[in-house]
Amino acid sequence: MASRIMTFNGLVMYQKDFRERDMLVKFFTREAGKRMFYIRGAKKRGFKMTADLLPFTYGQYVGDIREPGLSYINAAKETAHFQTISQDIVKNAHATYMMSLLDVAIPDNELLGGWYQRLWSGLSLIDNGLDEAIITNIFEVQLMGLFGVEPNLRQCVICGRTDLPFDYSESYGGLLCQAHWHLDPHRLRLDQRTIYYLRQFSAIDLTKLGTISVREDTKKNLRRALDVIYADTIGVYPRSKRFLDQMNQWDDGLKPLSDPKKDQQ
Ligand SMILES: [Zn+2]
Repeated sequence: MASRIMTFNGLVMYQKDFRERDMLVKFFTREAGKRMFYIRGAKKRGFKMTADLLPFTYGQYVGDIREPGLSYINAAKETAHFQTISQDIVKNAHATYMMSLLDVAIPDNELLGGWYQRLWSGLSLIDNGLDEAIITNIFEVQLMGLFGVEPNLRQCVICGRTDLPFDYSESYGGLLCQAHWHLDPHRLRLDQRTIYYLRQFSAIDLTKLGTISVREDTKKNLRRALDVIYADTIGVYPRSKRFLDQMNQWDDGLKPLSDPKKDQQ
């Protein structure tokens, strides 16, 4: 059994109670992949690391990384917290979904490649007020490759043209130009604006993104398109996504109450 004491960069995914006084805390770590840590005495009064182990906390920790089995944390060196995300239910739901997607996409204990940094950057952007729905979409588009689905969003998959209107074809695994739409009667029939953003999202570097703003109707179309692609070609539907979907439905249901015309009366 391998065990090594090391300093690592970690981001707390979730925690759950374990036995009477202990806790299990799952982390994304930059140096050792996703890990479950056993925290002895975490629920005892006076426990020192309570704040360091809350979901959406990140920083440098020192721990005993063991393989196989549970790892241990000896100390938290320097930690910070995505405050806005943990206080805002909508941002929280999106961030949780992003984390659960990455959790499903890469097996535990395997290195995350650039995904630790991408996840951290995405959450940081959401925490700083960028549109959580769009950051989530970017993450979803880029994550598809980890599920073995890498749609061609650069050019028509048949002829390589980029100058005609596009549509998305699930059976061809990417874009079809207008000259080839006839090949797939089940193409998604997306509008050009939605296609434009899907293409942009596949190329954006989350670690360098500054601002982004997308029209509400386009946001809905992007959500719908990605839901179809994920359902049909990826087949991953975490519980956190179900919650997000329910929340979006409540949101739609509540819209008439905030109708500006009514407010003026
Ligand atoms: Zn074509």
